[in-house]
Amino acid sequence: MSEEKNNAVEQLKKKLLFTNEHADEILSEQDKRGADEFCEGYKDFLDTAKTEREAAREILRLAEENGYTPFVKGSSYRPGDKISFSIHGKAVILTVFGKHPLADGVRIAAAHIDSPRLDLKPNPLYEDSDIAYFKTHYYGGIRKYQWPTVPLALHGVVCKKDGSKIYVKIGEEPGEPKFVISDLLPHLGAKQGQRKLAEGILGEELNIIIGSRRFKDCPSDAVKLAIMDLLYEQYGFTEKDFQSAELEAVPAYSADDIGFDRSMIGAYGQDDRVCAYPAVMASIDAEIPEYTCLSVLTDKEEIGSEGNTGLESRYLAQFIEDLAQGENTDVNDVLRNSLCLSADVNAAYDPTFSDVFEKRNTAQINHGVVITKYTGARGKSGTNDAPAEFMAWVRAVLENGNVLWQTGELGKVDEGGGGTVAKFISHLGVQTVDLGVPVLSMHAPYEITAKYDIYMAYRAFCEFFKN
Ligand code: MN
Ligand code: MN
Repeated sequence: MSEEKNNAVEQLKKKLLFTNEHADEILSEQDKRGADEFCEGYKDFLDTAKTEREAAREILRLAEENGYTPFVKGSSYRPGDKISFSIHGKAVILTVFGKHPLADGVRIAAAHIDSPRLDLKPNPLYEDSDIAYFKTHYYGGIRKYQWPTVPLALHGVVCKKDGSKIYVKIGEEPGEPKFVISDLLPHLGAKQGQRKLAEGILGEELNIIIGSRRFKDCPSDAVKLAIMDLLYEQYGFTEKDFQSAELEAVPAYSADDIGFDRSMIGAYGQDDRVCAYPAVMASIDAEIPEYTCLSVLTDKEEIGSEGNTGLESRYLAQFIEDLAQGENTDVNDVLRNSLCLSADVNAAYDPTFSDVFEKRNTAQINHGVVITKYTGARGKSGTNDAPAEFMAWVRAVLENGNVLWQTGELGKVDEGGGGTVAKFISHLGVQTVDLGVPVLSMHAPYEITAKYDIYMAYRAFCEFFKN
C-alpha cells in the first residue's frame, strides 16, 4: 500500500472509529499536575472521614470554611449564595444558587458517603477462653473472607439515655491500639480450605478481638469486666449503652499512593468517597452558576438507600420543595427540569480476573471518568436506564470541557449486577445518569483507584455545574 493511501485510511479511521483513550495520551500537563495535587486533598479526606457521620461532619466543616451557611427555611437567596443542609448528621446537601430561577431546574451531583464495614451488634461484648470479643453484623456487600487479619479501628457514637452522645474513634492515631479478627493457621486450615470461597469466613465468625487480660479476683466474666472497666473510665458508658450505639469497625490503615509511579490510590471506603469528595470540591469551587447546583452526599446507599438518611426517602424532594417555596415555585416544575449526575463508582477492568468482564464495555483505570448508562442485573432489572438524549447532553458537556470520559458496564451480561442512587433520583422526575470513578477491588477493605480518573470526576462535576 502506498504511503498516501495509508494516510487516507488512517484519517478515515480517525473520523469514523472510536478509540478509548488513555489519559497519558490525552491530558494536558496542567491536568496531570492538577490530578496529583487534587489527590493530596482527597487522601486527607479519606483519612478524616471513614464513616458516614465523619464524612458528613468533615463536609460541613469544609463548607463552613468556604462560606456556606446553614439553610434557613423561608429565607430568600441570591445567585452565588452557598448553603449547607444536614440530614440527621449522616447526609449533607450543599447548594450554590444560580442565576436562573429554580423553576428552570437544578443540577444535582449525588454521591454516597457510607461504605461496606462491620457494625457492632446491639449486644456485642463477650468473652471466650479468656479472650474478649465484639460480635459484628456486616453492613453492605462484603466478601467476608477479606476481613480477618486486617487491622481494624472503631468509629461511631454511643447515645446515652440522658440524651448525651459519646463519639468514639480509636485505632487511627499512631500509638493507638487496633483490633482484629483472627483466621486459622494454614497448618490447621485444610478443612476450612474445602469451604467455598463465599463461606471461607462466615458472618458469625467475624468476631473482633478486643482484649485478653483479666480483672483480678473476678470469678466469671473477668476479661469482659476488665474491658468494660476501661471503657467506662475512658468514655463513661456501660454495657447496656451499646444498645443505643452505632459503632463501626473499619480498616485502620491510611490512604496511600500505589505504584512506583504513584499513579493510583489505595484506601478503604473509596466507594463512594472517591465521587463524594470531587462533588464537594466542585460545589466549593462553583462561583455563580447558571442553574442552582446541589451536591448531595447521602447515607445508606450500600444497603439499598433505605432509611431516612438514604435517597429512597423523601429528604431530597423535601429539601428542594423548601427551596421552591422560598421562590413561590411549584416543586414539580423544579424537579421536571432538573438534571442529575448520580456520582458512583463502577468496576474497573481487572486483567487478572478477565473472564467476568466484557472488555469493550468495561471501564479501565486511567481512561477517565466513567458514564454508566444503566446498572441493574439480568435484563437491566432495577436500573435507571438513562435516555440517549441525556447521554448526548452529558457527552457534549464533558467533551466541550476537555474532560476525559469512557463508558462502563458492570461485568458481562448475566454475570452479576448492582445498583446506585440513580433510580431513586430519576423517580422524582429528574433526568439522571451515573457518572463516577472506576475502582479495582471494589468493596474490599483496600480499594484501588487512579488519580487521573479522580481528577476527571472533579472536572466533570465542575463542567456539569457550569452548564
Ligand atoms: Mn457506590
Ligand atoms: Mn458500593
